Amino acid sequence: MPLESQMGLSVTPPVAPPGDTDLRTRRCIGTNTQSRHPIVTVWDAAYVTDAAPTISTTKAARVIELAQAEGLVDLRQAPFDEDAAWADMAAVHDPAYVDAVRTGQPRRLAESQGFRWSPAFAAAAARIWSAHAWACRLARTEGTVVHPVSGAHHARRNSGSGYCTFNFLAGAARQAADENRGPVAVIDLDAHPGDGTYALLKDDPRVALFDIAGSAWGCTGDGVRIVYHEVANAAEYRAALATLPRFLDRVRPVLVQYQAGMDPFEDDRVGGIDGVTRTFLAWRDRFVLRELAARGIPTVVNLAGGYIRDVTPRLHVQTIRIAARAVGRPRLMRPTSWTPSFLL
Ligand SMILES: [Zn+2]
Repeated sequence: MPLESQMGLSVTPPVAPPGDTDLRTRRCIGTNTQSRHPIVTVWDAAYVTDAAPTISTTKAARVIELAQAEGLVDLRQAPFDEDAAWADMAAVHDPAYVDAVRTGQPRRLAESQGFRWSPAFAAAAARIWSAHAWACRLARTEGTVVHPVSGAHHARRNSGSGYCTFNFLAGAARQAADENRGPVAVIDLDAHPGDGTYALLKDDPRVALFDIAGSAWGCTGDGVRIVYHEVANAAEYRAALATLPRFLDRVRPVLVQYQAGMDPFEDDRVGGIDGVTRTFLAWRDRFVLRELAARGIPTVVNLAGGYIRDVTPRLHVQTIRIAARAVGRPRLMRPTSWTPSFLL
């Protein structure tokens, strides 16, 4: 049962089944639903390594290749200060763990996420961390920014976990909360809940979490600032996603990081939620991105999970296509002095 139902809060009825008709009639403020804007995309070929036993550390290159072929992306490379990046990571994670990934020693700790360590992998981890924070800054002026990276939300303070090395979502959330003087939200729609993000951010009142997953992994929401939905099929997924607009109106984030995971796809053996098809995922992403654009919320979209070699990259490109064609450039909200209701 969705958490908000358990808490006695009203839940918006499930929205209509996936399809385009209902979406064309949705109110869409400040967006262009007809034309295509190449979406600003932060990218560095140095992200790609052979560290993972899955496609996790290689799939982004295929995503970029496919997206470029369609003219969907406006590529930008983030500036990189290696020493500053490692120092920033050590402010969020245990410095001993950060040092293990940097040096490869002790190897057991450096490979605690399930990858094979190499100097190139360590360099990639640092660049991804640094560039994600930069992408979040860029979103303030660009509206929606894509950063095609994955492997953050299971990472713990003291170690990696579940193919996640460093929690760049948590790092960027804290940075943005410091800089933007307002609440920051993470919408995590990977098939697995962001247990590492939860552990790192649950006690930070400036950060709100919204998560829909096929399993619980020990995350406990409060139904207000921290919302977890555990769903078994597409119908439950729709009902859970219907609560997102009220979450956004309650939190009023100045930045959203959107984990557009593709492992909920029903054929994905690692995630796989019954009835979650390619069409459903398109509807999901369009719904999320339009709700964010309608509110003028700067947004950074990242890839997250998805493990089918010949399918997942195309599902991620679908997200980028929706960001570029269906959403366009949202009109950014003006800075305000409001206080989100959950802080009152
Ligand atoms: Zn996952």
